[in-house]
Amino acid sequence: MQETEEARRHREKKARIKAVKDRLYAARTGRKGLLLVHTGRGKGKTTAAFGLVLRTLGHGRRVGIVQFVKGRRETGERRFLERFPDLVEIRVMGEGFTWETQDRERDVRAARAALDEARRMLAAPDFHLVVLDELNIVLRYGYLPVEEVLAVLAARRPDLHVVVTGRNAPPALIEAADLVTEMTEIKHPFRAGIGAQAGIEY
Ligand code: ATP
Ligand code: MG
Repeated sequence: MQETEEARRHREKKARIKAVKDRLYAARTGRKGLLLVHTGRGKGKTTAAFGLVLRTLGHGRRVGIVQFVKGRRETGERRFLERFPDLVEIRVMGEGFTWETQDRERDVRAARAALDEARRMLAAPDFHLVVLDELNIVLRYGYLPVEEVLAVLAARRPDLHVVVTGRNAPPALIEAADLVTEMTEIKHPFRAGIGAQAGIEY
């Protein structure tokens, strides 16, 4: 059957776009361990980090997770990841303590211990991805100096990907990062009186 003029034009246009894209992607031959930052006031920073964890596990690669703010003990992601003890290592800052302590000294010590865990994971030979969840919060509180954290990140294994999450990422971290995404709140059910729900918040 004869191709219509419209179909022909569409086909040629698609072919031109594909050629441009192929050239663009072929030129992107660089590979390196990335520093990713998920920040902003909108929901999804930690969720997106766990999306990367899922992807990495799908490739059978190892993941390290340090949670710098102790939230709920039981979360869906935690329960799920416990099924992969050989592939996933999770550490929670100040395990056994509470975040709501008024004892700043103790919080600083807990933050420091969590950073030590992170440092160890960043140097280990076998992780593909390390998540430093809510590290930005700890930096915001001034529990760890930004310069020291940046030095730890810079000293990581060069092929290791690291994700840092939390509101208020400091400008120096944004500067050092390869990929920064800011979550913007457009709507959140919290404002309509809806509380935390399984599968959505935890
Ligand atoms: P999530 O873990 O759901 O991806 P997040 O990491 O982007 O959220 P955090 O600042 O760590 O956000 O806050 C964690 C908790 O606060 C979650 O229960 C989340 O639903 C809730 N939250 C996040 N953003 C908002 C918002 N804009 N308004 C109200 N609650 C929020
Ligand atoms: Mg979070």
